[in-house]
Amino acid sequence: MELRKINRSNIYHEFMSHNSLTKQDLVFKLNLSLPTITKNIDELLADKLIEKSGSQGNTGGRRATTYSLIRDARIALGIDVTRNHITIAALDLTGTIITFRRYRLSFQSTDLYFQSVGKTLEAFIRDNHLDESRILGVGIGLPALVDADRRHVFFSKILPIQENILEDFKKYIPYRVDLFNDAKAAAFAETWGNPNFKNMFYLMLANNIGGSIIINHTIYSGDNQESSEAGHIQLVPGGRLCYCGQRGCVDTYISATVLSDLTDGNLEAFFQELRNGDPKLVEEWNTYLDHLAATVNTIHVLLDCNIVLGGYVGEYMGPYIDDLQARVVKLSTFCDNADFLKLCSYKKEAIAAGAAMRFIADFTDSV
Ligand SMILES: [Zn+2]
Repeated sequence: MELRKINRSNIYHEFMSHNSLTKQDLVFKLNLSLPTITKNIDELLADKLIEKSGSQGNTGGRRATTYSLIRDARIALGIDVTRNHITIAALDLTGTIITFRRYRLSFQSTDLYFQSVGKTLEAFIRDNHLDESRILGVGIGLPALVDADRRHVFFSKILPIQENILEDFKKYIPYRVDLFNDAKAAAFAETWGNPNFKNMFYLMLANNIGGSIIINHTIYSGDNQESSEAGHIQLVPGGRLCYCGQRGCVDTYISATVLSDLTDGNLEAFFQELRNGDPKLVEEWNTYLDHLAATVNTIHVLLDCNIVLGGYVGEYMGPYIDDLQARVVKLSTFCDNADFLKLCSYKKEAIAAGAAMRFIADFTDSV
């Protein structure tokens, strides 16, 4: 029984990583008998998880049927909740984003807010013609610490999020709903299917600083789900007051608001004026990069792995990455380059995508 499950799972995963396969391809790749392959293909066809996609072979011989994954046999949804917006993303079984959209919706711990989220999601599903019967679940990324059971929030000082917020969402979302810490969701999106990010630290440079440690493609959450909170490493003893109540935390020096506060809350305007050479902003940016370099160096000394810069500032970091790497090298004890410092590949949709991906991983593991 167990072996049958393993064979089915292995065959299904071959379809996930190849566009199309013949039965013979699978016989060679998995070293299984043709009857075993045939039986499993018939089952996967019956379950509508794969489909016949064509044929291949030389013109003289018999052509072999090819089969392919039905990528949207199931879909997963993710919602990123921030102070003033929600972002919704829909993903297929390969983890590819089918579509995503950002909506202006200010967070409030009121029934009206949760109702608005439900209605917005409903409209998103309808407008994008998503088949409700294929929806695996809705992952919600929050700027809060979430229990391992994905059902309870146990620390939230950024937004007034109640411990039992899951029940509030579920009143208006008729699917399975799971909660995720925002940075951990975004990190999961970056590590998904990316062999280069087997081990990494994801540093989320959003309006608050988040982090996540990935070891062997798995999130390391710590004994109490409190790991990776790089935002509360003390950078300057006795320094600026942090929302956590301590002083001098990293969060107060490298969050996106440190920059956007200089241009009326508009981060894009900050980078525009920086490019235009505004001397005050150039000076502030240099200070910011030094603080960021110090943070990156601290993380790298401890973890010795790739560090991915995400969040709002991560989106703009492209033209400045060489400069930042040079600053990190100056602080480093061991490194003569900082190639381990990488730009994120997901941008505004990272948290929503990562929150959805968990459902895909669980589903594809269960086939
Ligand atoms: Zn703090």
